[in-house]
Amino acid sequence: MLRTHTCGELRISHVNQPVTLTGWVQRLRDKGSILWIDLRDRYGITQLVFEEGKTDSAVLALAKTLGREFVIEAEGIVSERLSKNDKLPTGDIELKVSRLRVLNSAKVPPFTIEDESDGGDELRMKYRYLDLRRTPVRENLLLRHKMAQQTRAYLDSLNFVEVETPVLIKSTPEGARDFVVPSRIHHGEFYALPQSPQTFKQLLMVSGFDRYYQIVRCFRDEDLRADRQPEFTQIDCEMAFVTQEDILNTFEGLVCHLFKTVKGIELGSVPRITYADAMKRYGSDKPDTRFGMTFTELKNKTNLPPGGGKEGGVDLTSGKNFNVFDNAELVVGICATGCAEYTRKQLDELTDFVKRPQVGAKGLVYVQYRSDGSFKSSVDKFYTTDDLKKWAEAFRAQPGDLLLIMAGEANATRKQLNELRLLMGEKLGLRDKTKFAALWVLDFPLLEWNEETNRYHAMHHPFTSPRQEDIPLLETDPGNVRANAYDMVLNGSEIGGGSIRIHDRATQQLMFRKLGFTDEEAKKQFGFLMEAFEYGAPPHGGIAFGFDRLCALFGGSDSIRDFIAFPKNNAGRDMMIDTPSTISEEQLRELGLIIKP
Ligand code: ASP
Repeated sequence: MLRTHTCGELRISHVNQPVTLTGWVQRLRDKGSILWIDLRDRYGITQLVFEEGKTDSAVLALAKTLGREFVIEAEGIVSERLSKNDKLPTGDIELKVSRLRVLNSAKVPPFTIEDESDGGDELRMKYRYLDLRRTPVRENLLLRHKMAQQTRAYLDSLNFVEVETPVLIKSTPEGARDFVVPSRIHHGEFYALPQSPQTFKQLLMVSGFDRYYQIVRCFRDEDLRADRQPEFTQIDCEMAFVTQEDILNTFEGLVCHLFKTVKGIELGSVPRITYADAMKRYGSDKPDTRFGMTFTELKNKTNLPPGGGKEGGVDLTSGKNFNVFDNAELVVGICATGCAEYTRKQLDELTDFVKRPQVGAKGLVYVQYRSDGSFKSSVDKFYTTDDLKKWAEAFRAQPGDLLLIMAGEANATRKQLNELRLLMGEKLGLRDKTKFAALWVLDFPLLEWNEETNRYHAMHHPFTSPRQEDIPLLETDPGNVRANAYDMVLNGSEIGGGSIRIHDRATQQLMFRKLGFTDEEAKKQFGFLMEAFEYGAPPHGGIAFGFDRLCALFGGSDSIRDFIAFPKNNAGRDMMIDTPSTISEEQLRELGLIIKP
């Protein structure tokens, strides 16, 4: 190599050694008779020094012509620094340069290549290769690398086989639109890019591979939301001859292994909650369990909370002429510890928050349970102190706490209160990015009614097996059939999801019918899988983790983009290579395509 050491390597023990370093000029400080350069590579920064009278004058003159991001090779003797820099691992030494070679010059970079850059998002994406020189961005990719290595090590130790599956395939039903690729040779025909390797991994189980995994790129043409990428990476896994319990244990093991090896954290066993309970206690199927603030119901007129189960009977609000609560199906709230002294302005802000169209509530009721034991509420006109005391008891509130209560149709109200709970968690500093809380959510509904298409959709995907005891409900009450499906949630983000699969043709066919496919359509799209099920398909199940999101959470970031080497922007555009872009007339002609204006 051109270098003898990296820029992160030299210590006091190297003093007096001749070395050669290579790297980029991060910073120059020219004091006339003395010139310092911070030389940077992937491993760190080392200070170079050039001094009039001591450094060869031609070398010094050349050094004075360098600019930021020039690529150089510098040879010299390691020496102890007079003023040490304890913030830098190499801060005890510097390199007295005796020979200098410019390997390449550089234009002035469009933004500063420092930990904190002055470049805006779009500019840094356009010059992503320069952004990747910055330490925080580089560290994100190194973290990702480590996560991938540890994932492979763990799964390999359990006999999982890494198998690649094709990228040019046919539609996969993960609920998004497919990206399609026109075929030149088969005029008028198209491939689809995989939304996931779902059908292939199931076929590998039929082939007897028994334990499969792949760190794999998936493609979904979804409407763009903040922090979504049209292509993303999954840790995709499948196992044969397993129960749901086996899968939960194996993949809880994976996540624990990653926490331990990558972050040095013992995660412990992952708690479990049913979908129905998650909705009832948090109003979300991906609750952030870094903090409590679970829901308390003051009135519940629904006998069946979502997903089944028996509830009802509670009513601490009706008959006091407060129409909003009297007419509501559900009155439910959270208790914000220590917030009783919120000002009028702070309370108004919370009301404004829940009324925002993204949340969609009509209003918010508050009860301040003051430190002196008295009550002040926005419904004092309707409820006595005794009434409010009963509410406070139901919430297990203490003096000093603030009750925030919402009312309306059960499902919608729960979702709205979920938003408020997350906001309060944020305000109270309970969503600490250095803390981690994982959770399994189990027993998802198999089907979900879609108002627009007026039919049931698979909540997970159509290969998910219903729970055995719920199969009769498929005919009578499809909406209440539970699936053998599970998600893993970390800090309020869904990081993985999977299911035990259907593995016989008859059930799979029934499932397609329930989803509104004609037998003809089902056969055309998924005939290959149903046929495979007739050649000895073992019982099987699996899971896929969103690898980008997992890395972002491990890195304490909200943005998956920061953990992808070459991401697309929020409009699905790659700013660096400038795509999507048009193709030539010639290409269109060959493909038999005409672009309509
Ligand atoms: N293919 C599923 C997904 O992408 C995961 C699974 O069921 O294993 O969400």
